[in-house]
Amino acid sequence: MDSGHRNIVDRHGTWSNFSGRVHAQPSRVCYPRSETELQTLVRDTRENVRAVGTGHSCTPLCATDGLLVCLDDIAGIVAISKDKQTATIRGGSKIHDLGPTLRDAGLATINQGDVDVQSIAGAVSTGTHGTGPSLGSMSTAVRSMRIVLASGDVLECSSDVEPEIFKAARVSLGAFGVISEVELQLVPAYRLHQREWKEGVSGARSFISRSNQNRHLEFFWSPARDVVYLKSLNPTDDEPSDLPDQKRELIGHSADVFPSIREDPFNELEFAVPAAKGVECFQEIRKMMRERHEEVFWPVEVRTLAADDIDLSPAFERDSVTLSVHQAADLPSDKLFADAQAVFANYGGRPHWGKFHTLEARELRDLYPNWDNFLKIRSRLDPSGKFANPYLRVLLGA
Ligand SMILES: Cc1cc2nc3c(=O)[nH]c(=O)nc-3n(C[C@H](O)[C@H](O)[C@H](O)COP(=O)(O)OP(=O)(O)OC[C@H]3O[C@@H](n4cnc5c(N)ncnc54)[C@H](O)[C@@H]3O)c2cc1C
Repeated sequence: MDSGHRNIVDRHGTWSNFSGRVHAQPSRVCYPRSETELQTLVRDTRENVRAVGTGHSCTPLCATDGLLVCLDDIAGIVAISKDKQTATIRGGSKIHDLGPTLRDAGLATINQGDVDVQSIAGAVSTGTHGTGPSLGSMSTAVRSMRIVLASGDVLECSSDVEPEIFKAARVSLGAFGVISEVELQLVPAYRLHQREWKEGVSGARSFISRSNQNRHLEFFWSPARDVVYLKSLNPTDDEPSDLPDQKRELIGHSADVFPSIREDPFNELEFAVPAAKGVECFQEIRKMMRERHEEVFWPVEVRTLAADDIDLSPAFERDSVTLSVHQAADLPSDKLFADAQAVFANYGGRPHWGKFHTLEARELRDLYPNWDNFLKIRSRLDPSGKFANPYLRVLLGA
């Protein structure tokens, strides 16, 4: 039976990520239709296995010449608990497919990123986040998960069951196994009032204090115009509407308001730095780009992210400001990204796992206090490296 999933490789059998920067020639691409099928697939193969969601990561996390497993057909909501305000969601579900069902149940996600096309397992695996000084990444909303291990067995973990594994698994880059299900903490459904406005670049100075006055606040610095565009989102009981100046102000259900449309392919580098240093770091990025990269048109995005306790989370035990530098996919970005990465290094910046960077294990270990713990759990769960690829071996140094 044709399950109707999209074909994620072209007619030459090549898989590419969203920006087109990463290509791979998997020997097989499989679309299991159930957790049981997934278990058999993983257990029976002698090849390396990488899971892919929507392929929105800029780094070669999903690249493999072995088996590429796409969970498009393991999607949908398994159960909703109105009491606990949680939903159990199959790993391949796209975030944009969750909103309406959750809303009908009177629930909504706590926070979301810029777009909602990612799979839930893919978003969680790299610590995808939105903005809000008291709000963690989507990984922090995971209450429990089911992971298909190299043996084909299913591991269930939560803060009560296998808590050490759970802490690490919530940002684990597909290195522990294939996540077939996550239970997500939700909140009562809410509406958001979105406002967007422009300010001179000095407006960035008070970003942290103003962030604390809004549930969500972010800004985009335009290098071409040297101005900042701020965007705030705050809960409201007002009815959904497009307000007079439609583009700059609107009210809607949270799942409708969070996502933007990002169709033009781009590459991106993002680092999380200590929140208290965020504005200073932004000023240095701005100076560097004005002095050395006048050609860049794409904006720098600045957001806040609350500290968490997940081993490889960029916000591990640190309230953070995240800064993202973008470049169009068809323009050179290596020099820009190298210069930006050098600035972030001075601030102890930790890279977003799904966005471009060139850090390797020896540098990363210094940035993540629980690095060795993560590696220990990984070798326990995947002793033969079934879920490794060349990129992960360099990244994790094992
Ligand atoms: C236009 C655009 C906007 C973005 N906006 C934001 C944003 O606002 N905030 C932010 O933080 N990031 C953002 N990102 C980055 C993006 O959210 C992450 O790269 C995310 O991981 C992509 O999800 P995906 O489903 O495409 O995962 P993929 O890129 O397909 O995979 C990412 C990782 O997850 C693993 N994985 C996928 N599925 C599974 C599974 N079932 N089990 C185990 N591992 C799995 C893969 O092996 C890989 O390691 C954006 C990227 C783009 C291109």
